[in-house]
Amino acid sequence: MESPETSTAIGSPAAVGTVTPKLDDLLEEARDHLQLQMLLIEVASCNESADFELIIRAYHAADQAHHGQIRRSGEPFLQHCVEVARILAQLRLDSTTVAAGLLHDVLEDTSVDAEQVGTEFGVKIASLIDGVTKIERFRYESREARQAETYRKMLLSMVEDIRVILIKFADRLHNMRTLDALDTDQQKRISHETVEVYAPLAHRLGLARIRWELEDRSLKYLEPETYGEVRDKVAMKRDEREALIEEFKAPLVEELSNNHIEAEITGRAKNFFSIFNKMRSRNKPFEEIYDLTAVRITVDTVRECYHTLGLVHTVYRPIPDRFKDYIATPKTNMYQSLHTAVIGPRGMPVEVQIRTWEMHHTAEIGIAAHWRYKSGETRPGSGDLDQQINWLRQVLDWQRDATEPAEFMESLKIELFQDEIFVFTPKGDLHQLPNDATPLDFAFAIHTDIGFHCLTAKVNGQVVPLSATLQSGDTVQIVTSTHQKPNQTWLEVVQTAKARQAIRRYFKEEQYAESVRLGQEILERELKRYHHSAESETLDELASDLGLADVEHLYAGIGSGDLSVSRVANQLVPDRPQRRVRPAARDERGIRIQGMHHMMINFGKCCTPIPGDPIIGLITRGRGLSVHRTDCPNLSDLAEDPERLMTVDWDIDEDKAFTVQMRIRGNDRKYFLSDITRVISDTGANIVSCATKTVAHVAEETFWIDVHNTRQLHSMIKQLQGIEGVMEVARVDEAHAIDPPAPN
Ligand code: MN
Repeated sequence: MESPETSTAIGSPAAVGTVTPKLDDLLEEARDHLQLQMLLIEVASCNESADFELIIRAYHAADQAHHGQIRRSGEPFLQHCVEVARILAQLRLDSTTVAAGLLHDVLEDTSVDAEQVGTEFGVKIASLIDGVTKIERFRYESREARQAETYRKMLLSMVEDIRVILIKFADRLHNMRTLDALDTDQQKRISHETVEVYAPLAHRLGLARIRWELEDRSLKYLEPETYGEVRDKVAMKRDEREALIEEFKAPLVEELSNNHIEAEITGRAKNFFSIFNKMRSRNKPFEEIYDLTAVRITVDTVRECYHTLGLVHTVYRPIPDRFKDYIATPKTNMYQSLHTAVIGPRGMPVEVQIRTWEMHHTAEIGIAAHWRYKSGETRPGSGDLDQQINWLRQVLDWQRDATEPAEFMESLKIELFQDEIFVFTPKGDLHQLPNDATPLDFAFAIHTDIGFHCLTAKVNGQVVPLSATLQSGDTVQIVTSTHQKPNQTWLEVVQTAKARQAIRRYFKEEQYAESVRLGQEILERELKRYHHSAESETLDELASDLGLADVEHLYAGIGSGDLSVSRVANQLVPDRPQRRVRPAARDERGIRIQGMHHMMINFGKCCTPIPGDPIIGLITRGRGLSVHRTDCPNLSDLAEDPERLMTVDWDIDEDKAFTVQMRIRGNDRKYFLSDITRVISDTGANIVSCATKTVAHVAEETFWIDVHNTRQLHSMIKQLQGIEGVMEVARVDEAHAIDPPAPN
């Protein structure tokens, strides 16, 4: 069992602990593979009971798979694999992760497939490598900071096991260490991605040391001049600083030893990137930012932390309000320490951190601490574990549905963003959408106008219906057309509130515009009856008398039926004769009915008028104009208020189709139905649906048929009557109408 108190910093040479004889044998066997030996020693230094054989097998498999491959730096590819595994070993991760680190590039860069890895190394290692490979597929391109957060979420959503991310960190870290071998463009791109995506993610997961190194190495390529300046100045000040620290330490070391506290006091390294960030955000020169001396005191126990704090405050005068107790109240990323600041030697302020070795370790490796003592030591339900899980929940504050801590540890899964997907634009910009989102949601997510004019969508290059369900990782391309506009079915297709609201708002605005058009036509027509026309000033005045904003609102009120046209006409033509209901006279043109897609004009379901039928309009309250056949049996009930009836005229394009319901009865025989459908089709009409029933050898066929006008309908009826056995052909009126069967 390894001691939690030993700390091996990443990158520092591993301390060789007591090595079991078995390991000695293995090292002897590996004498021709120096890198493998180093890796084994690294692993053994923090975990004597590691599965060395697994690691050795993984090493040889990687060696074989990458045989002959050379990195840009000229080194054999295998070296990258071993270095990645070493970083993971230094994070003290389990043998499974170290082995997966060795093999992390075999799926991407060699002919080995996941199945082979599964057979040789088990499904766990195969799935870890598969996870790393999937992440490889995506490349962060965007220049927008907002996108980086979405991208980080996407990465987390893709991994089922957080160790995938840890392997990816190790991979990225080694790539950053060897970035000199690439050209300037690649250096900039990879550094940009590192600083935008991986470093913040490492911070969230508490991997402070990895984050620092990623940031500093990125800075070197992104801001070479500033990096050089900061590095040189830090180096220049080093002697001065070290002298100050020695001066600071001397009286303290004595006090600590008098109190039998064993402690290590070190100057604290500063992260170049954070110095650079402070210089930039505070717009101050290096000297002002880097003026503080920072010291860390590491002790064995929590009690000694507080004891040491007391001693520091006895020797040096504390600066008020600078004490922070992150032991009692840890930071969300599990960080614990006591912070204080004192007036040090020569009156210089000194920042002091006091922590235990355990806290130090956690501060350095964060989430990786989860796998450190995995072998039997942490059991679900132990207090410490609960604390860690709570921490993880806070860190990953994106998590929606919290899973049981026990369940979490058992499966080592993070089930983040289960209800979200991440999709790309063709340019590589990332959008986060709910799980069941469609291309139409995507179009509205990009821009409302793109949504409104969305014609078709391509997902990964293939045309798909607008109602298709998108998957995480899809690249979605939207094709727009200026002629396209939303229709009612879109409301059933979209899943996002944004899209739904935009579509509803569109309909509302459209409805208003149509109400205005219709209202104006109704009023003008009404006034024409009395040979009257109104000046726009008069109308404005009237609108304001009625408490309306302007004449447009007056028209909208009339068009939607909310405002009675006769009331308005009364105001304008007070002495007009009383109106009577009568069918349209020949000399009088009605409201022109131009189609079914006019939102404020609808056709009576009771009588389903088609072009050619004599019709009349009824202004319904709030729903605009309802058009019925003049012989519609419902009309007398509907038109309680004769003022609401309007004469209307057909004005329909030839290609517009209207559905009528037909009933055909006849002696049932072979081919009866097919003869009917053939005749209907021959007239150019389209059968929408049909229903059949036979009672005592009499067949009754009900058809819903799209026709253009009464002329076509009558010719069809005539031909149907000529079919052998037909007894009755009738257009079904309200009394017998039934709803067509639901289309399947
Ligand atoms: Mn790699």
